[in-house]
Amino acid sequence: MLIYALSRDTNKLEHIDSVPNGLKCNCFCSGCNDALVAKNNCSSSRSNHFSHYSKDENRNCLMTQLHLAAQHHFLNAEYITLPEVSFLYKDEFLTNKAINLKVLSAQLETKMDRYYADVTIETEIGTIAIEVCVTHKNEHDKTAYYQQNKIASIEYDLSSYLSKDIDEAIKDLNEYAVESTWLYEWCRDELIQNHNVFLAKEKVRIHQKRQRSAKLSMTKLMFHKRITLPDLTQYFKHKIGGTQYSENVSVFTQKEIQLTEVFEVASTQKYSLLKGNLNKHIIWIAFLLERNQIPDDIAKLSGSVIIQTPSINENEQATWSWLKYPRLARRIEHTKKQFINRCKLKKQLKRNVSWFLLNTDNLYKKDYQTWSNWMKKNKLSSQVYPKLSYVLRYKKEYSCLWMFNSWHILTLSYLTEIIDSKPQNSIISYRDIFDDLAQRIDLHEDFLILEQNLADFVIKDDDKSLIIRENIIEEALLPFRELMQILCLHDGCKRINPLMSSLSLGN
Ligand SMILES: [Zn+2]
Repeated sequence: MLIYALSRDTNKLEHIDSVPNGLKCNCFCSGCNDALVAKNNCSSSRSNHFSHYSKDENRNCLMTQLHLAAQHHFLNAEYITLPEVSFLYKDEFLTNKAINLKVLSAQLETKMDRYYADVTIETEIGTIAIEVCVTHKNEHDKTAYYQQNKIASIEYDLSSYLSKDIDEAIKDLNEYAVESTWLYEWCRDELIQNHNVFLAKEKVRIHQKRQRSAKLSMTKLMFHKRITLPDLTQYFKHKIGGTQYSENVSVFTQKEIQLTEVFEVASTQKYSLLKGNLNKHIIWIAFLLERNQIPDDIAKLSGSVIIQTPSINENEQATWSWLKYPRLARRIEHTKKQFINRCKLKKQLKRNVSWFLLNTDNLYKKDYQTWSNWMKKNKLSSQVYPKLSYVLRYKKEYSCLWMFNSWHILTLSYLTEIIDSKPQNSIISYRDIFDDLAQRIDLHEDFLILEQNLADFVIKDDDKSLIIRENIIEEALLPFRELMQILCLHDGCKRINPLMSSLSLGN
């Protein structure tokens, strides 16, 4: 419904109640240019409004009315409340509270270069351009123009009022409840300048603090002549037949050493350098005062170099690391050879596991009779061809049992016998169970060598259950745990019920 319109006489915005009735109002719709008829003697059932003279009122007419009403709100405002300012600058939110300002003067459609601001208002803090958005956000070019020219500018978004009564928009504009966005914050420059001054002061303060701290460490070091050489780890990669292996391998573990001699070589704005002698060897000790960059003089040093780098957070300790470590070269080469060997063994392990899984049928043929006899001997079945009970069918694949190289049902059955032979409610270590099982079934010939080389280097749980005795048994016992027959603890289990009876089909 239109209740605001432009007067042909004055080109000013008029409210329906302030114009003569009918065509005498001499108003037009700025959306479609049609003449408007003022209907301001409406009965109580319909409120006063303008209706179009010859055209149909459309969405554009309403949009234009909303835009005009908002523009005139700012044009006639005595005071304006500018919203809070908050923007991200160099990882910090710079903010300023909302402020209330007296409007000294205001102008509609102010030309600025090749753009028009919807309204500009003059205040004690300068000109502020106001954009009213009804459907389209302020054009990108115009926003860029405001930002490049540092013109304080703000956009009010009225799009959500198109479907509402216009009085609601007017009310919210009066109360400054309409959503707004700064296109260029009125105090942006000042906030940035202040923040840069603060950052520059901080930089100096932190630098001085680092200098003092480095000086202190150097004095101590030169007095005691003791230094802790830092850890060194290397990242190795190796590919075997399409499989990529990688590891972070420790090459050197931190160690405190006693130097024979140590003295200061240089102190600059960027670093302090000590030269230490360890018998005939030289070790350079550099205290860096800045992060992210190794000074050229330090990078050019030959021989062993360790560096102290300041932490990002000033409350945290600086960290030591190796910059050059020629004396560890042979050790690195050796470690890499060991790593490549491990890659080959990992590949071997995968092959063995695959072979085991693919051979289930053959292993079944080999071991079924043994199992059938075992079932009979233990009175778990009287049939000639016993079937598998629920717990034995619970899990389909037992890659964790590859090293026993037998039909997994037979291995599991022996496992239950071993556990049942231990006292109820006492903790039975997984390792003991494994060793007992290995007494009954020969281990795969590769197992010991794989275990020896890989056990300390497997990280993922899936891999652990292929090579680490405790994990192998814990994984194999999973069905019994899920069916609440046993309680699995960190390195052993407790039997709740006899396990063997769960293998009987009667159960
Ligand atoms: Zn119209």
